[in-house]
Amino acid sequence: MAPLLETRGLRASYGDFQALFGVDLTLDAGEMIAVIGANGAGKSTLMRSIAGTIRNAPNDILHRGTEIGALPAPDVMARGIALVPEGRKLFPSLTVEENLLVGTYGRKIDGPWSLGTVYDLFPVIAERRNYPATALSGGQQQMVAIGRALMSNPEVLLCDELSLGLAPIVIRDIYAAFPRIRIAGAAIVIVEQDIAQALKVADRVYCMMEGRVTLSGRPSDLDRSAIHAAYFGAE
Ligand code: ATP
Repeated sequence: MAPLLETRGLRASYGDFQALFGVDLTLDAGEMIAVIGANGAGKSTLMRSIAGTIRNAPNDILHRGTEIGALPAPDVMARGIALVPEGRKLFPSLTVEENLLVGTYGRKIDGPWSLGTVYDLFPVIAERRNYPATALSGGQQQMVAIGRALMSNPEVLLCDELSLGLAPIVIRDIYAAFPRIRIAGAAIVIVEQDIAQALKVADRVYCMMEGRVTLSGRPSDLDRSAIHAAYFGAE
């Protein structure tokens, strides 16, 4: 059976600058994978490619065996693939609740997520539902961004650098939501710069460097020196 999501020799460019050079990745239903790598390795480009904010060759990305590489972002989202973008990208003039409701726009899939279940997952944002999103702390804004993506009832949740700029205790609260998101039926891809965090939470890890996957596997099968070499390059 085809994987839930697959990239096959995925290439991506910004104008003349090529950022991805043939990335192969698979995600199965129910899995949580982590993409790690230093600044500029291409992790965000990979997420944007899958989410359709960067267009690719049609057969570079497959969803349940169907080519989706050239689909625009709304069509990718309608297939059940949602992105929590780096930097959150909330709508500053909208309230928390209005930001969440944006996630239902164009939703075609019935599923477990609604305002009620998102507020249940992140009670702290329920208390602030009528505040402008910008009045919230960074961690709370990240919860809104995750909630907005969940409101589309995704079967694939792509999370780009959730931890950026957040305190460890806040990061812990956000990661605590993942088991429930998985139980509710979503497979998850996280981009994470913190190697230890990635190894702790993911079923499998992909390490990228300079637009290529340099190492992948289950955390228990990867040794630290191999990860170090794949992340920073050979010395
Ligand atoms: P970071 O952790 O810094 O976000 P990353 O692994 O996510 O790094 P990308 O953001 O995917 O890396 O960047 C990969 C390469 O593409 C880098 O060399 C970067 O400078 C370049 N790049 C990223 N976005 C653009 C853009 N909009 N226009 C041109 N080049 C870009």
